[in-house]
Amino acid sequence: MTGRVIVITSGKGGVGKTTTSANIGTALAKNGSSVVLIDTDIGLRNLDLLLGLENRIVYTLVDVVEERCKLKQALVKDKKNPNLCLLAAAQTRDKSAVNAEQLKDICEQLQKDFDFVLVDCPAGIEEGFKTAISGASEAIVVTTPEMSAVRDADRIIGLLEANDSIKSYKLLVNRVRPGMIEANDMMSVEDVCDILSCDLIGVIPEDTGIITSTNRGEPIVNDENSMAGKAYLNVARRIQGEEVPFLDINEPTGFAAFIAKVKSFFSGKNKKTDKDE
Ligand code: ADP
Ligand code: MG
Repeated sequence: MTGRVIVITSGKGGVGKTTTSANIGTALAKNGSSVVLIDTDIGLRNLDLLLGLENRIVYTLVDVVEERCKLKQALVKDKKNPNLCLLAAAQTRDKSAVNAEQLKDICEQLQKDFDFVLVDCPAGIEEGFKTAISGASEAIVVTTPEMSAVRDADRIIGLLEANDSIKSYKLLVNRVRPGMIEANDMMSVEDVCDILSCDLIGVIPEDTGIITSTNRGEPIVNDENSMAGKAYLNVARRIQGEEVPFLDINEPTGFAAFIAKVKSFFSGKNKKTDKDE
């Protein structure tokens, strides 16, 4: 078996790489694939918190590289999903503790046992980025619909294009707020795709549920009522080869749906009065 190695990258920090890694990883595993997530953001250690696994870490990526343990010993099993594992980042200050050659070797070993190896990338285009992409043949570029994030995504795409081992890359637009796009206060997803001339793998709405889910250590894909969760589940299905239409994130849910219903009820009434007149 040879699994697919996909790096989740962005250029700009804070646009949602780690959130995306945790959710796509969990979603792929929910859909039946075996998945290992690698946190290469050495020094920060985030992915374990999002998955609620921080207390279960005994060994990290750096321990594997420095041969303090075997690779298998460092894989932390997810609490809910037996198909999902995490290889955590170390909290050491030395960001160069793992080099590209070493990570590539780890990815090659993991590819033999897992359908998917997802690599969560640190911010920037420096050494950490080069290391993170070293074992991957596919990439997901995460951006928000803001000019600064799009510009950094453009630089990353240039670097991915120039990299021989990356065979394909797709775009994920995160934190989209339809209301702001309508008011012309935010770039539309189409604008972002046009600027970057890149195929889309997903559109994730801004969702305050993501913050609560992060604090709970439970990815939002486990919440069936969440729009962002559904959007991430769809991304996973697209990665697995299914054709899934993009969600209409304009469609309101929860309280917004209630308000929309009330509004349409009254506007319906108004129409009736118009007619009567
Ligand atoms: P990165 O790994 O790129 O630095 P993170 O995944 O850590 O980014 O996300 C940065 C912050 O943005 C986090 O606080 C996260 O909860 C929040 N966030 C990410 N995506 C969304 C979203 N779709 N809606 C609301 N908050 C989000
Ligand atoms: Mg991160």
